[in-house]
Amino acid sequence: MTRVLVIDDDRLQFRLVQAHFKNFQRGSYELDWSETYEDGLSRLLSGDYAVCLLDYRLGERDGLQLIREATAAGCHTPIVFLTSEVSDNVDIQAMEAGALDYLVKGEISPRFLERSLRYALKLGDSLEALRRLATRDELTGLLNRREYERILADEEDRARRFGHPLSLVVIDMDHFKSVNDTHGHPAGDAVLKEAARRIAAAIRTVDRAARIGGEEFALILVQTDRAAAAEVARRAIESISKDPVAAGAVSLSVSASAGVAELPADAAVAAELFAAADKALYAAKEGGRNRAVTAGEARGES
Ligand code: GH3
Ligand code: MG
Ligand code: MG
Repeated sequence: MTRVLVIDDDRLQFRLVQAHFKNFQRGSYELDWSETYEDGLSRLLSGDYAVCLLDYRLGERDGLQLIREATAAGCHTPIVFLTSEVSDNVDIQAMEAGALDYLVKGEISPRFLERSLRYALKLGDSLEALRRLATRDELTGLLNRREYERILADEEDRARRFGHPLSLVVIDMDHFKSVNDTHGHPAGDAVLKEAARRIAAAIRTVDRAARIGGEEFALILVQTDRAAAAEVARRAIESISKDPVAAGAVSLSVSASAGVAELPADAAVAAELFAAADKALYAAKEGGRNRAVTAGEARGES
């Protein structure tokens, strides 16, 4: 069953769409209707729908605005845009905002609507796969370095705008060269995969985990000061060393070290934030590894 959300403030138009669905040849669809901008947006963001049919006119506001707001909130649900305006370039604006297809209301037939929905669903799947390839690290499934940099810059702006602290944790596996040297590269890869899984399990859902280098990870912790960030870092480190990791035929005890820094307490901009966390990481290594050190501690503050 494919769940479809129709956002349209016109009851008659919804009934018409509903009637078209009854004449579809293939697949089974379940239709829900939102008649306001707010309700439509919140249902779209629920992630409960496979595809959305969105009307241009929505009371005071319009569908273009809704697409932009949904996209900014991270929504990737395929959207087919409904418009009655043929003259101006609302259709192109909708595609630019993120709609995958558009239909002109007077020209809709059951066949046409069904084709458009099937197309949007398929294209949505392909785009999702591409998005994953572009943003995720292949081995661990964590965010890749490019995505980490993009998000850090975004969160840096947001933290400054709202006056919230933003923390960065850099995690580096301890003596990882010897894991590879002793057990081989595939075993090393298996350890990295499991370490990544444990790190991801140790953070909150609003936090982001990335693999930013071979055996180096980073955590972006929003609205988090360095004391709270140090807690998260310790939890992540502990989860890595607590139980041995299965790597092929062997079971290995591994550990990692972490450096923690906060914006604005330890740095004024993101590049400095990384340098401060990296310096703290170095102090954690010097201090004996398998530990988290904050930038403040690294500077000798208590
Ligand atoms: P330290 O505790 O000081 O961090 O020691 P280390 O051995 O971890 O540090 P070093 O930077 O000298 O070595 C990192 C090693 O990590 C080198 C490389 O063989 C290994 N490594 C980097 N990326 C990968 C990867 O993708 N897979 C595997 N299996 N090993 C990797
Ligand atoms: Mg390293
Ligand atoms: Mg290392």
